[in-house]
Amino acid sequence: MDFDLWWLLPIPAVFFGLGWIAARIDIKHLLTESRALPLSYFRGLNFLLNEQPDKAIESFIEVVKVDPETVDLHFALGNLFRRQGEVERAIRMHQNLLDRSDLPQDRRTMASYELAQDFLRAGMLDRAERLFATLEGTAYETRSLRHLISIYEQEKDWAKAIAVTGRVAEIERSPAHREIAQYHCELAQAALVNSDLAAARAGVDSALAVHRGCARANVLAGDLAMQQGDPAGAIDAWQRIGTQNAAFLALVADRVADACRKLGDRPRAIRLLRAWQEQSASLDILKALFSVVLEAEGAEAAAALIKDELARNPTLLGLDRLLEAQIQSAPPERRHDLELVRGLVSQHIKRLGMYRCEQCGFRARQYYWRCPGCQKWETYSPKRTETPEGFT
Ligand SMILES: [Zn+2]
Repeated sequence: MDFDLWWLLPIPAVFFGLGWIAARIDIKHLLTESRALPLSYFRGLNFLLNEQPDKAIESFIEVVKVDPETVDLHFALGNLFRRQGEVERAIRMHQNLLDRSDLPQDRRTMASYELAQDFLRAGMLDRAERLFATLEGTAYETRSLRHLISIYEQEKDWAKAIAVTGRVAEIERSPAHREIAQYHCELAQAALVNSDLAAARAGVDSALAVHRGCARANVLAGDLAMQQGDPAGAIDAWQRIGTQNAAFLALVADRVADACRKLGDRPRAIRLLRAWQEQSASLDILKALFSVVLEAEGAEAAAALIKDELARNPTLLGLDRLLEAQIQSAPPERRHDLELVRGLVSQHIKRLGMYRCEQCGFRARQYYWRCPGCQKWETYSPKRTETPEGFT
């Protein structure tokens, strides 16, 4: 046994020795490298790690003064300036880099991309747009195109947004039907405002051709029919939303009630809205239904409607409507008390009934197809929330 194992004894010592030599070499290498870097560099890093970017910038500027060749540090500083909101300094830093004749091509492209972002941040959209456009065919192409899309969205240049979004979808091989359909809808909406009915029709048709499920296109198709004096056509268009996504019917409940009023056919509005409420219950449909029932069948029928609804779904907004109906049918001596109660309920309701972005939680009283908070499309549920802020 002794004979077999004695030679194993020195092995740990050999490994220890090898490890010691390796560590010495590493430390030596590190020391040579760090001696090449000025102390301010480490100070700057330290400030960055301690989340003191202002002081980090001061230290890095020292390094750049001592050694103007440090291209990477110029980039880092430029980014820091931009992040700190010192856009003019960021622009100067990246512009200086671009002016250097010895800058390799890949770094030149990178400097252009950074400079374009500085311009964007500074709100100089024209210059940002021109610079991003030069980055086609480079490693920054897709990122630049995405920035271009956001520029065109800000400028409401929907035709260009359509073209560039199509290009990104092609490069990334992921369809962007939803966004492109929204751009066509924006064109249609703008045309409707300008009473350019032919252009509005073209926008609606293109949106549906790109994305058959685009509910907004049918909302607009109905608006277009109304502008053309065709309430029956408008009702047909709005009804089609039910086959796309019934939740969006809530957005046109008031409009369908108005179209039926124009046709002098309130019973049709009541039939339609009742069916919609069955299909996808919402406060807006209930509100519209309540108004038409009140006009066509009187306060008692309207109160009965709300009582039924409250039994299924007890809400403050429902209670508010019920009180409204009761006030109308109450004898004068009871009206004052009912109005007092309704006043209290209404105060609470003011803080309810908001639309909420499912992406970022932004709340708004008005419905947005594109969230003003996170700038994403179709992130708002078409149903108002009944939860006060902070209770999601
Ligand atoms: Zn949002």
